[in-house]
Amino acid sequence: MSDCLFCKIIDGEIPSTKVYEDEFVFAFRDINPQMPTHILVVPKEHIASVAELDSDNSVYAAKCLEAVAKIAKQEGLENGYRVVSNVGEDAGQTVHHLHFHILGGAKMADKMS
Ligand code: 5GP
Ligand code: ZN
Repeated sequence: MSDCLFCKIIDGEIPSTKVYEDEFVFAFRDINPQMPTHILVVPKEHIASVAELDSDNSVYAAKCLEAVAKIAKQEGLENGYRVVSNVGEDAGQTVHHLHFHILGGAKMADKMS
């Protein structure tokens, strides 16, 4: 998608701090970190959100989550972390390209919202 921020980051048109890349997945540090470690894991296919996943494209979600596990080890998050994917307006999704936030590096609030 030509006007998608994360497609531009994947293409290198917009710079980012890359932490991981493979055939299916690109991962980079969030520009506005909410935790000591805050990484975004995105598929190299433009999928708007979890709501757009189906049996034709779900391999991208699986590959993103495999990457989450690798990146968490790479980043030393052995004490735990949170994986979040915001969908739509009520969840405050601002970039409409599927992404999984990895949040970690400190104790988080018990509540999720
Ligand atoms: P959302 O709110 O859609 O779940 O998450 C979007 C995330 O993208 C936010 O945490 C925001 O800080 C991050 N973000 C927005 N623009 C950029 C950018 O240009 N570069 C990077 N690295 N992160 C961005
Ligand atoms: Zn995109």
